[in-house]
Amino acid sequence: MTLIDGKATSQQIKAEIAEEVKKMVASGLKAPHLAAVLVGHDGGSESYVAHKIKDCESVGFKSSLIRYEDDVTESELLKKVEELNTDPELDGFIVQLPLPDHINEQKIIEAINPAKDVDGFHPENVGRMVVGLPGFVSATPFGIVELLKRYKVETSGKHCVVIGRSNIVGRPLSILMSQKEMNATVTVVHSRTENLKALCASADILVAALGRPGFVTADMVKEGATVIDVGTTRIKSDQTKSGWKLKGDVDFDSVAEKCAFITPVPGGVGPMTRVALLKNTLLAAKRN
Ligand code: NAP
Repeated sequence: MTLIDGKATSQQIKAEIAEEVKKMVASGLKAPHLAAVLVGHDGGSESYVAHKIKDCESVGFKSSLIRYEDDVTESELLKKVEELNTDPELDGFIVQLPLPDHINEQKIIEAINPAKDVDGFHPENVGRMVVGLPGFVSATPFGIVELLKRYKVETSGKHCVVIGRSNIVGRPLSILMSQKEMNATVTVVHSRTENLKALCASADILVAALGRPGFVTADMVKEGATVIDVGTTRIKSDQTKSGWKLKGDVDFDSVAEKCAFITPVPGGVGPMTRVALLKNTLLAAKRN
């Protein structure tokens, strides 16, 4: 069994990005600049955004944080998005999700200039990805494909089962895996799927992206399969300083024994998601 080390791979990619940034700056170009808009004080969102800012610093990007309280209105937020859309200093920006209930998330996403949408959530970027045109691919599917490529996991002709059909993970990943570059035969399963266990057990590559800790057990995994665990559920723990730890969708201990490749949680897909945002921002800066 090979453990797919997302942390080490992301560090390697970060070093590659930092090298490119150095060259850009040495040739007189400005360093890529990413802005993050954060609404409210949700613990998860605070920590995701803090990591994104730290990641920018570590590769030599410029970063800006724009904060709003929970009671910001939708029109105030839309006005800021409009401003960021045309700010020549900025290569890309993200609006950290989820947003408070009184704000229509989809409306905000669709207001973002697709050329600066480094999260890849705008329907124009999703559409470009579907038809195989260059654009911004959302971070988690992008990171997973990069991991599979760097670990030389054979995907061509293989059966890939993706558990989950969300717009940010399952669905875009299923499309990327079925495209000509990866050439997998893809099955997407979800909460209404019949015979889910049997479908999973027929997968050469099984991706768990449902948010149910320990859902994938050894009996659902084929001998020699590659298992990618996207799930990150925070569960209480008295073994950590923070009082919680992350648990994946895969019962790692029992499943690992049967796998050719497997990602851990934490340290698998998560760090790759973070580095994918940097890759998209670098791409945006190059296009500018
Ligand atoms: P989501 O929007 O809640 O979607 C979950 C999907 O799983 C849905 O399609 C749902 O089916 C399906 N599902 C739920 N319970 C199921 C069950 N018992 N059997 C089969 N399918 C089931 O979640 P998400 O945003 O895609 O995230 C999934 C997980 O990945 C979460 O733990 C999240 O925290 C994690 N995540 C991690 C990263 C990272 O960087 N590591 C990034 C993004 C997300 P229906 O469509 O039928 O409801």
